[in-house]
Amino acid sequence: QNYIQNIDQKNDEINAVISYDKEEALNKANVIQQRIDDGTAGKLAGMVVGIKDLICEKNKKATCASNILANFESVYDSTAVKRLKEDDAILLGRLNMDEFAMGSSNENTIYGPARNPVDPSKVPGGSSGGSAAAVAADFCTTSLGSDTGGSIRQPASYCGVVGLKPTYGRVSRYGLIAYASSFDCIGPLTHSVNDAALMLETLAGYDKNDNTTSSRTVPDYQQFATNPESNIRIGVPEEYFGEGLDDEIREGIQQRLSDLEESGAELVPIHLPHMKYGIATYYILATAEASSNLARYDGIRYGHRADIKEVEADLKQEEEAIKEQMKLAEGEEKVKLGAQLDNMDSSLIRLYKKSRTEGFGAEVKRRIMLGTYVLSAGYYDAYYAKAQKVRRLIKQDFTEAFNDVDVIVSPTAPTTAFDVGAEIDSPVQMYLNDVYTISANLAGICGISLPAGTHSNGLPYGLQFMANTFEEGKLFNAARLVE
Ligand code: GLN
Repeated sequence: QNYIQNIDQKNDEINAVISYDKEEALNKANVIQQRIDDGTAGKLAGMVVGIKDLICEKNKKATCASNILANFESVYDSTAVKRLKEDDAILLGRLNMDEFAMGSSNENTIYGPARNPVDPSKVPGGSSGGSAAAVAADFCTTSLGSDTGGSIRQPASYCGVVGLKPTYGRVSRYGLIAYASSFDCIGPLTHSVNDAALMLETLAGYDKNDNTTSSRTVPDYQQFATNPESNIRIGVPEEYFGEGLDDEIREGIQQRLSDLEESGAELVPIHLPHMKYGIATYYILATAEASSNLARYDGIRYGHRADIKEVEADLKQEEEAIKEQMKLAEGEEKVKLGAQLDNMDSSLIRLYKKSRTEGFGAEVKRRIMLGTYVLSAGYYDAYYAKAQKVRRLIKQDFTEAFNDVDVIVSPTAPTTAFDVGAEIDSPVQMYLNDVYTISANLAGICGISLPAGTHSNGLPYGLQFMANTFEEGKLFNAARLVE
């Protein structure tokens, strides 16, 4: 009831929740109260969870904040949602996001921008902006987001909450609508490190419906959060503290690091020399994967379908116009027009085009075009194949670094949250928000962002720890030392 009240009071302004069912949530709460009284409740009993609108929930819309899926309702639960339900979480609603998880500000959305609860003139970050804002505004206890290049950690940093990107393959992607399949990860946004550990215990583990999930046992993650060891080795990569980073954020993080050192941690200067290629590599590979994943939305098999009558009328009109011209034309001109007539797109091709034109927003179209380009014959080797090699080098940098340190520390984002509208017209500027988070996705390792301080502009900023694959325990340990 508390969360519902908050939503009713503040969601008009924050716009984090795009739909929710009060009655269903309250009924569920009653059922779970009963189980708590009986002593049969699951480990998430009492937790109210909001879900990013690209993670499928049975009989609920999953629109990806896109017109192309505006009417799509899932007929099944994603594995993540299924596990939350099994552990007695109360699922409260569907959360705003950047369309198909493409963006860093939650402005690429058919629902209008979500806003930062700390200061609603600012963006909440993205693409899981609604998920971060909903937790920060106390619309739910925790939420699920997805992180392909930073989309859980960067909004967590902007909104002053904790955001965890697990190791690739730790949490099932079954029922997560795909953006870039070799990067996509589901993870929680929470108020505390312990809640993140608790959520991961429920979410993690092998799933026969997702081949890329690992069968490693799921540790008792909360143990790492409750009894953190303070004598850990923390790698400090020079490359993450250089040009482009806000001075106050740099100083704030350095202060946190000195505190850690005083309490027994060892700070180890390290290098991640290929980090500087992270953004370029990501935007080649992720767009390539997106162009393939999003090919299924053709208006026939999936997604919004344009009006076939309009398509046919347009086709007829164009045909007739050419025929008219042909009556007056002669010789070569006439032959050209004849060829034009023969080569006109069929109504089916036109239907695909019109459906996709109407269905996708500008950023999604930009990425489909970029991705198609880097995969096309003649460019594949120069871009896609090259980027795969650089991805390997970035991964190697981390593998070498983790031979010597437990975790690596960095800022989560170079700045605090920016004004709504400030970067929406400069895609490359927008891409730079992910400069510190993107490498973890390229390498498949895990990372966590947690609140590290408040800037003199009044906005929160985060600090990120990264750990090697399947070392989430080390993240929780390190994070608890700062929390
Ligand atoms: N902001 C990055 C992008 O636009 C990352 C998105 C994500 O992690 N889903 O692609």
